[in-house]
Amino acid sequence: MNLKEILGNYYFTPQRFIGNLVDIPAVVLIYHRVAHLDNDQQMLAVKPDNFFRQIEYLVKNYNVLTIQEFDFLVNKKKQFPKNSILITFDDGYADNATNALPILESLNAQGLFFITTSNIDTKIEMWWDKLDNVFFTGKRLPGELSISINNRIYKFNTSTEKDKLTTYKTLHPLIKFNKKNIRDSITQKLFEWASIVDGNREEYRMLSSEELLSMDKSPSAIIGAHTHTHSPLSILSYDEQVDEVKRSKEILENLLSHPINYFSYPFGNRKDYNQNSLEVCKYIGFNFVCANFYFQVHRWTNKFELPRALVRDWEFDFFKMQVNKFFKY
Ligand SMILES: [Zn+2]
Repeated sequence: MNLKEILGNYYFTPQRFIGNLVDIPAVVLIYHRVAHLDNDQQMLAVKPDNFFRQIEYLVKNYNVLTIQEFDFLVNKKKQFPKNSILITFDDGYADNATNALPILESLNAQGLFFITTSNIDTKIEMWWDKLDNVFFTGKRLPGELSISINNRIYKFNTSTEKDKLTTYKTLHPLIKFNKKNIRDSITQKLFEWASIVDGNREEYRMLSSEELLSMDKSPSAIIGAHTHTHSPLSILSYDEQVDEVKRSKEILENLLSHPINYFSYPFGNRKDYNQNSLEVCKYIGFNFVCANFYFQVHRWTNKFELPRALVRDWEFDFFKMQVNKFFKY
């Protein structure tokens, strides 16, 4: 492992360093969940007490912008005030309403919540949570798995914890780059193989329309769209992308009775969307769109793929160090 691999995103790049010298950057943070989970393979959840400390620290030490302030600066291509931060959430888990929002409200901070619409008012879990449920909730599994995905048979040994983890890590990308119907059929096969009834567990539930309506009334929440089925847009045709993006925007607009002006790409890395996705978002007319690769936001950043910095359930001193780094490297 070389230095670049160890330091990952924070490896010094002359591009970032010079960019940050000539123009004050803003940093857009990305959260997913605020919850205490026994099992969180994707590390999406920040514990509520930790989230409170993180936001309290940001409010005291940084310039936490409202969505309106950030929107204005991005669209007018104006200089950001020093230490500008925007707080965003992806996916639309129910804990955004029950855990995250009350904390933001108590600290007078605002978050932008990007919502996947297909599971609103259902107890259906996101496919990666179903995958977690199959492999990591302590159920006794058969020692081998043979599964057909896109006409190819994959065989896995699943007898030890290490085998299960390897299987999970191999299956994750294989499932991800498919449309919803194929993903559903794969997870269904996995549940049958594991003799598990699809859990629809309360702690993995997505937001209900009632919760969305109540969030929308809060000064601490702005609602954005995140597609209907959370498919990587890069696997879809232009027209399919329009349908995915528009559908989530329209469902939210019909529910909340006002325009939805913001969007984030599912998964959001550069391989998860393409040039068509940027065109689709431009055509639909969002004020700005968030991606999910690491960088700072500058006056010259394309507003249809704003980079973001992912926050995890870090120990507090590490969090402080990371946020400081987000503005520099
Ligand atoms: Zn997402």
